[in-house]
Amino acid sequence: MAPRFSTRVGALAVLVFHAAQGCAHAPTPAAPPSLVVLEGARVFDGEATGGPATVVLEGELIRAVGPRGSLQVPAGAQVVDYSGKTLIPGLILAHGHVGNVSGTELGRRFYTRENITRQLSRYLGYGVTVINSLGMNPPLFYTLRRELNGNTTGADLMGAGPGLGAPMGLPPARGMNLEDDQVMRPETAEAAREAVRDMASKGVDMVKLWVDSMNGAMPRLSPEVYRAAIDEAHRHGLRVAAHIHDLEDARAVVEAGVDVIAHGVRDQPVDDAFIQAMKTRGVWYIPTLNLDEANYIYAEHPAWMDEPFFRAAVDPALQRRFDDPQWRRETLASEGAAKARKAVAVNLENLRTLHQAGVKIGFGTDSGAMPQRIPGFAEHRELELMTQAGLTPAQALRAATRDSAELLGLKSQGSIAPGMVADLVVLDADPAQDIRNTRGIHAVWRRGVQVRGAPSPRPAPP
Ligand SMILES: [Zn+2]
Repeated sequence: MAPRFSTRVGALAVLVFHAAQGCAHAPTPAAPPSLVVLEGARVFDGEATGGPATVVLEGELIRAVGPRGSLQVPAGAQVVDYSGKTLIPGLILAHGHVGNVSGTELGRRFYTRENITRQLSRYLGYGVTVINSLGMNPPLFYTLRRELNGNTTGADLMGAGPGLGAPMGLPPARGMNLEDDQVMRPETAEAAREAVRDMASKGVDMVKLWVDSMNGAMPRLSPEVYRAAIDEAHRHGLRVAAHIHDLEDARAVVEAGVDVIAHGVRDQPVDDAFIQAMKTRGVWYIPTLNLDEANYIYAEHPAWMDEPFFRAAVDPALQRRFDDPQWRRETLASEGAAKARKAVAVNLENLRTLHQAGVKIGFGTDSGAMPQRIPGFAEHRELELMTQAGLTPAQALRAATRDSAELLGLKSQGSIAPGMVADLVVLDADPAQDIRNTRGIHAVWRRGVQVRGAPSPRPAPP
């Protein structure tokens, strides 16, 4: 899907140039009705938030961006006053899941068009405009990926199709109510190659591997099998993302040529050899900090759980669980909660180390894989946790926009610049000052159409 807009970007750049020339000499007699001017908002450019700006949208693309007053407003354009607001690009979720969960339940039966359409719409309402569903996708995925991309009712759906796990290993078929068409479990190198060829022919954006024995409790995908899968994926021009938990597995898959580490290393501090291997090979690191936190934080009932931004993301059945005093007591006292707290602490420290060392950081939450990983909310919580690991708010936002677009090979999403898709989130306050300001969503624009927030003023009649 990466090349979708590449030819159009070049054409548009020329168009923008000519339009600018035209405006300088004579007023345009009648602008096309699809022109929208967003006036006065400050724009986050991937590094910092600038001064008040004018952003011109034409159809589904951004046509021009400049300081307020520097661009001539095309005649007949719809003008929206965003004075005092801040614009960020739509968030790009490089590791999430769709169709696995409904309420407090999970299983194959929730992988339906209706459920997934609703989940993609939820993501969009929370400012997430692309989601990469990293495995456990049955064949319906191929259809939905083709049909739903380019829509304006939900986030774009990318993904890895089923992905490759070990026979009797992760992801746990019984624990997650998975069926055989959701994960491929090759036993030989040749079977792994065959599986990758099958996914490549049907249409995936990435190949997913699970390389994790759950501390020896389950079989791990063998090096022979995942090496073959990685090689075959690369032959088809596909990047490979690996689920890992422990440093030794992360080290092994990096040495085998994997492109993306899809979770943080959570068993021990990363060492210099691992850092160097990540840097030398240009491997992306997606920490998914909120994943382990979600195993205990809702039982603690922090104050933000009473805010509408959180409440609106939570399914009623899940909310009832969170409100149940017995569930809260048992969860907080559980061994799982203690383990999860340790994992979060190690994950935060490793992110700090790897980011400082210059390793490329991607944005992922694993939301949608389990009921407590709440699509929409998880992404904003993840941004906050990334700042707890020492990233500045601007660095966290950059990882979640421009950098994750690069991770996914998206050339026309992830930044606010001429020729890019007009996927924008309008915030009440500047997130570069306080990352929690991403929760003050005033409006969301998707491919040049306002899809959330107060309706825009109608364009003046010509
Ligand atoms: Zn996942």
